[in-house]
Amino acid sequence: MAESSRALERLQEELEKKAHAVYCYKCGRDVKPKVRLYPTLLGEIRVEYVCPYHGIVLLTETIEKMRLPDRKPYLVVGGAYIAFEGIDGAGKTYYAKWVVSELRKKGYDVIYVIEPYVKAIKEFLYKYDIDADAEVFIFAADRIILQKTIVLPALKQNKIVISDRSIYSSIVYQSIRGVSEEYIWGINRSIKVPEFVVILDLPVREALDRLRRTRDKLTKFEEEGFLLRARKKFLELPKKYSHISKFVIINTALPEEDVKKEILERVLEYLRTKGESGR
Ligand SMILES: [Zn+2]
Repeated sequence: MAESSRALERLQEELEKKAHAVYCYKCGRDVKPKVRLYPTLLGEIRVEYVCPYHGIVLLTETIEKMRLPDRKPYLVVGGAYIAFEGIDGAGKTYYAKWVVSELRKKGYDVIYVIEPYVKAIKEFLYKYDIDADAEVFIFAADRIILQKTIVLPALKQNKIVISDRSIYSSIVYQSIRGVSEEYIWGINRSIKVPEFVVILDLPVREALDRLRRTRDKLTKFEEEGFLLRARKKFLELPKKYSHISKFVIINTALPEEDVKKEILERVLEYLRTKGESGR
């Protein structure tokens, strides 16, 4: 720790020495700024250039000091990465698997994946009471393993990947448990984000009824108050993140045949706009 704080001091002195004069509106002239450094959780250092007389921040920059592994999943551009999201009981697994089989019938090369992927990680998550920030790391680790071993190679081969959950489940669930969405995005900085997200929506009461019919025990993520908040968060995703992924919301309270028709139409429409990937 002492070592790294000395390194920071040296960096600060160095930056201060070579800093150009910056205009301060209170001084009404260019001043030689003081430098303040703020290391971030992600290994970057935020640099603030401050007026020595007024303490006003005149300029900021971020220095990348990331001693972190280099992964660039966004460089993998083939195929199509489609995620199914929504609260438990909304029908993700059922409809995701169904759409996989329909796409295969139509001649598409498609694979199905589910998060969490690693069995041991799943056990770990459900067996122990883990704080939500640590949960973010565990889910991210699982996602990285899944993407490296299956998702990215499949996309490189121009396949369609249908993913049962994605980073958006982390955004929803761990943010409800008290972690900021920025932190979750940060920890997941090197994962591939699904291009197209099908959010399956169902009122919570109905989702719980469906869950109780199929399971003898519900997990900590399947309690009513929690699911109400999760549903709200899922429905907010399109407003917040449409610059990152394309979203559709599908009401799974409707008759099954209608839901299937709607899902298939939307997915095919997306694939057409993508240029017939995976065919
Ligand atoms: Zn000033």
